[in-house]
Amino acid sequence: MKTVAFIGLGHMGLPMAANLVKAGYAVRGFDLSEACRAAAREAGIPVAVDTAEAIAAAEVIVTMLPKGEHVVSVYGDLVQKISAGTLLIDCSTVDMESALKAHELAASAGCPSVDAPVSGGTGGAAAGTLTFMCGGEAEAFSAAKPVLEAMGKKIVHCGKGGNGQAAKICNNMILGISMIAVSEAFVLGERLGLSHQALFDVASTSSGQCWSLTTYCPVPGPVPTSPANKDYQPGFAAALMLKDLELSQAAANGAGASTPLGAAAAALYENFVGEGGGARDFSAIVEMLRGGEA
Ligand code: NAD
Repeated sequence: MKTVAFIGLGHMGLPMAANLVKAGYAVRGFDLSEACRAAAREAGIPVAVDTAEAIAAAEVIVTMLPKGEHVVSVYGDLVQKISAGTLLIDCSTVDMESALKAHELAASAGCPSVDAPVSGGTGGAAAGTLTFMCGGEAEAFSAAKPVLEAMGKKIVHCGKGGNGQAAKICNNMILGISMIAVSEAFVLGERLGLSHQALFDVASTSSGQCWSLTTYCPVPGPVPTSPANKDYQPGFAAALMLKDLELSQAAANGAGASTPLGAAAAALYENFVGEGGGARDFSAIVEMLRGGEA
């Protein structure tokens, strides 16, 4: 079984690395945070003292880090130390520029690389049911696929390097916009005297149907498992949604694409996070739209 170094054992990385261990990979993890390293050890993941020890002799290196700057910095360091042919898989959600830079660094060391951001959240990471959207050469993708299959249930090759991030950014722009659309509809319905359940029963079986309504309904009641029923504990924090919407706007500016609703969604989430809503689930934006506090 392959030796895998796993760098970044946070909310997502820890359960993902645990699934690799379960699948029989020889995993060696590392995180800058001692608390994360301790939690990983407790979860049965062998932990190294630093990145250098984690990547020594690794055939595959998976990174799950906060932002592009972290990925580029870790790649800049590790490409000095690894042998040509080591497979590099970055699962973080990052900006297009950083994703392309990471591929360039990998290529400079003779290493195949895949950007493979995920959808499915911490629940999907723990259950091993993540969706991976991958960008990279066909050969690199084929090599990465079995490793990703140990952590997810849907692995999609989106094309050349960077295309995984492109798919993630586009998907989450739809999500941010649709959550605001659904929230606005509930706020308008309230003013018009419609019950949440009545609007849900109609829209969920009509043309307004979407994931933000039927899985993540932003008002309590109609979907008992949605964060609205737990005082908007995340789930998917509004700060992360803002990050992804900002990535979409940076990508749109770079590519000359017109995304006026994406821009409006980014501005609304910026207000929400600015008012203190960053740690709440992103569906709590309904409260700001209703005219309440974040
Ligand atoms: P997190 O902050 O919990 O974990 C990131 C970890 O990386 C931290 O523990 C941090 O200490 C570690 N780290 C930072 N720099 C490091 C370095 N140089 N070496 C080693 N470790 C380092 O974040 P997360 O929620 O696990 O998210 C990780 C990525 O996945 C992000 O890009 C996020 O946007 C994306 N994502 C998150 C979710 C989610 O629901 N949390 C869902 C989909 C995608």
